Amino acid sequence: MENLPMSEPETTPSDWSAAAAAVRPDPRPWIGGRRVEVDPGRSFRSENPATGATVAELPACGAAEIDAAVRAARAAFEAGAWSRLSPRDRGRKLRAFADQVRAHAREFALLDTLEMGMPIANALGDMQEICGHVEATAEMADKLLDEVIPNDPSAWVLNIREPHGVVGAITPWNFPAYIGISKVLPALAVGNSVVLKPSEIASLSCLRLGELAAAAGIPDGVLNIVPGLGRDAGAALARHMDVDVLTFTGSTATGRRLLEYSGQSNMKRLILECGGKSPQIVFPDVADLDRVAEAIVGGITFNTGQVCVAGSRLLVHRSVADALVSRVVAKARAVEPGDPLQESTTVGPLASCAQFERVRSHVDGARAQGADLLLDGARASPDDGCFWAPTVFGGVTPGMRIAQEEVFGPVLSVLTFESEDEAVAIANGTVYGLTATVWTSDLSRALRLARRISAGAVTIGADPTAGRVDATTGGFEPHRQSGLGVEGGLGGLRSFTRLKSVTFKS
Ligand code: NAD
Repeated sequence: MENLPMSEPETTPSDWSAAAAAVRPDPRPWIGGRRVEVDPGRSFRSENPATGATVAELPACGAAEIDAAVRAARAAFEAGAWSRLSPRDRGRKLRAFADQVRAHAREFALLDTLEMGMPIANALGDMQEICGHVEATAEMADKLLDEVIPNDPSAWVLNIREPHGVVGAITPWNFPAYIGISKVLPALAVGNSVVLKPSEIASLSCLRLGELAAAAGIPDGVLNIVPGLGRDAGAALARHMDVDVLTFTGSTATGRRLLEYSGQSNMKRLILECGGKSPQIVFPDVADLDRVAEAIVGGITFNTGQVCVAGSRLLVHRSVADALVSRVVAKARAVEPGDPLQESTTVGPLASCAQFERVRSHVDGARAQGADLLLDGARASPDDGCFWAPTVFGGVTPGMRIAQEEVFGPVLSVLTFESEDEAVAIANGTVYGLTATVWTSDLSRALRLARRISAGAVTIGADPTAGRVDATTGGFEPHRQSGLGVEGGLGGLRSFTRLKSVTFKS
């Protein structure tokens, strides 16, 4: 990439447009510590969803490139310059990596905005946040303590944790750089080597991570990045016989396929972070309905609703339903998607035309099933950019598809309940169990619900996107078809190690 104004703290919208015009991204894979020339025979186009313009033409890598990356990762792991480095020294290099990411935050933010339409201000915020997570993970790198088990008088047993070896990482498009970094980070922190396959919708920021890792002193081959389509490069990584662990964020449908690939190949361990249909449950004792409405609208419009933890189901007690829903609709109506390169824009387009069509089909389906369209966010045509404004459905019943399926757009479904038991039954009545939010002033009720709701993270009285899991939280484990395995915190680091027992007999 050339001529980007990287260092100035302030910018204006025209600066971003000028910076966008100057973008010359390098689409080549990063393998063994350098960009490599490949000719997989096919390519794919990444497109700006706000304008339809081509951002880049990328090589559609497949089995051969994935195999080269896995070999480089295995060689680096066996060489030991990273895998046997002391955890404290790995932590130091990860802090240097955070410095690199911070220094290039504007470049990363711009690439994500161009490829998937996230408003530039949000993309910049994400980069600041992820640097904090890298630093937090660096701090934790030497805090995973092994155990001595002295309960047999004739033996000393040590339980030690080792890195697995080669970790494959497959990421989605909704927070390209943020999720890319948070996927590879814990795996690296405990000494693994990684092969990352980013989403074909938005690969460019992830592809830049290789150069930054090298600049931070992370040895060649420890981090490899290969662009390509899911069914080719992604499947090749998931089926590879020398990948020990596959960490994935994406749809439940793809997560299910990865479980099959694991069984068909080498039984590699899986960490899956998949879809959600997160409930926001509002009881009549909440103090301030305006604040709740604000948070609910924020929770369904942030990143144009393309958030795994989006609070896409509003479960509201019948006695306050009218008062709350009228506030939600009024606040949602005021949110107008706009040009993501403007720093004042809070909601951009959907990430692609395919996503636009997916949202349209969910909305049409809800209307056909009799849901009441309280706020229509449809925009005329994806030809004018893939924009979709906030949409609210009332009169939704738990069995409707719009109450069950993940839309991944700014579409809110309102359901009502009469009792706590009914609220819990509706909240737990989908195949998902990612996050939930409870709005109540009654602490006992909040604690009861936190236990009764089947979700990996329950937030009491805050915007559900506050439930986004990161390195600084205690970690979480999705329920049901939202995935499996722990991400975040020390538990997230442990996910990338395996336990070995060593016995000294006297
Ligand atoms: P997706 O499942 O279509 O794609 C995700 C990744 O999987 C991409 O890199 C894609 O190329 C790859 N892939 C697709 N088919 C594959 C195959 N057969 N083999 C191997 N890899 C394959 O998901 P998406 O549309 O990119 O992202 C949206 C989904 O991600 C939503 O369902 C959302 O809820 C989920 N998500 C979950 C979390 C979480 O933490 N739980 C976070 C963000 C997004």
